[in-house]
Amino acid sequence: MNGHQHLFIPGPTNVPEPVRQAMNIPMEDMRAPDFGDFVASLLTDLKAAYRLENGRVFVFPASGTGAWESAITNTLKPGDRVLMSRFGQFSHLWADMAARLGLNVDLCEVEWGKGVPTEEYAKRLEADSAHEVKAVFATQNETATGVTSDIAAVRSALDAAGHPAMLFVDGVSSIASIEFEMEKWGVDLAVSGSQKGFMLPAGLGILGVSDKALEANRALAGAGMNRCYFSFEDMIKLNDTGYFPYTPATQLLRGLRVSLDMLLDAGMETVWSRHQRLAGGVRAAVDAWKGCDLVAHGPQWHSDTVSAITVPDGVDARDVISTAYYRYQTSLGSGLAQLAGRAFRIGHLGSLNPVMLCGAISAAEMSLLDAGADIEPGSGVAAAQAHYRATAQ
Ligand SMILES: *Cc1c(COP(=O)(O)O)cnc(C)c1O
Repeated sequence: MNGHQHLFIPGPTNVPEPVRQAMNIPMEDMRAPDFGDFVASLLTDLKAAYRLENGRVFVFPASGTGAWESAITNTLKPGDRVLMSRFGQFSHLWADMAARLGLNVDLCEVEWGKGVPTEEYAKRLEADSAHEVKAVFATQNETATGVTSDIAAVRSALDAAGHPAMLFVDGVSSIASIEFEMEKWGVDLAVSGSQKGFMLPAGLGILGVSDKALEANRALAGAGMNRCYFSFEDMIKLNDTGYFPYTPATQLLRGLRVSLDMLLDAGMETVWSRHQRLAGGVRAAVDAWKGCDLVAHGPQWHSDTVSAITVPDGVDARDVISTAYYRYQTSLGSGLAQLAGRAFRIGHLGSLNPVMLCGAISAAEMSLLDAGADIEPGSGVAAAQAHYRATAQ
């Protein structure tokens, strides 16, 4: 193979060269006397990326799914009522986990293509005057459909109802790429992973925890759900000394140091607007492709990190994806669950720039044509170019 196999899936994302090199080091002593200071500064800077002033951020050797589990098992009890919504494969899986861990899930079913039903949430919270709902869950960016939800609006719904439930947010494909304000939005538990906005290999489950959620954990006094590996209590005890209750993924932490430097040196606002600009080019291309459409039902739902794109009638999106992979050395994201065959995805988060995305759009365009789509050759690339030229600094 000449050149790179191009990666345009919504995670794992491309690892920047400085991050990769920071991880290419000999094994080190995770109990070294100076390791604690290194960890302490990492945890502090993660809070800055999460926009969290109080509370804590935990880093588990896990993936995002582990952080989902940690959030639930450390703050809730079996049988607790929680309010959730399902509108794609990832919101589905979190609801499934919640039920399997013994929570009593009030599930709002939402058509795929839309996101968190904040008005329905507001109604249900208003009606719950006995405050039986202990937590409200929101998937900020549904990676399967390319739909972003309004977390500030979920906070407003809680506040308007004067409801004390905790707010859980899945930010795996949004934190460190789409606007996220943990403190300001009153998010109590915020889940992410290393392999998306943080531009690292998979292997870290990252969890932001508010003071209120830490208090809920303390109130359980060790009771509640069974937990061990993902226990806050064990992690806090060791993190307070700068170390971990088990072997940390030291290489990934060295990489995280560099990726956090890149994110924080640029400034989170700049990171967010960069993703907005990158996404705009992909959306312009989709607009130009006759018969293609975004799965997201309108601009209010558009995701700046991933676009799920439906293919014209008579075209199988699986052909588009395999053609891109084998013929054009390009990985596009697949259509998940009910979108299999109907849609493909372009991930546009992490270490990317407009020219790379023009390449992704070009590969998708050639593959769409090869798979029988009646689109104008070059139309998507031209539209993306126009967007990137018009928005260049
Ligand atoms: C990727 C992803 C997950 C799953 O994270 P893993 O790291 O694969 O466990 C969960 N939620 C969303 C929104 C995701 O994009």
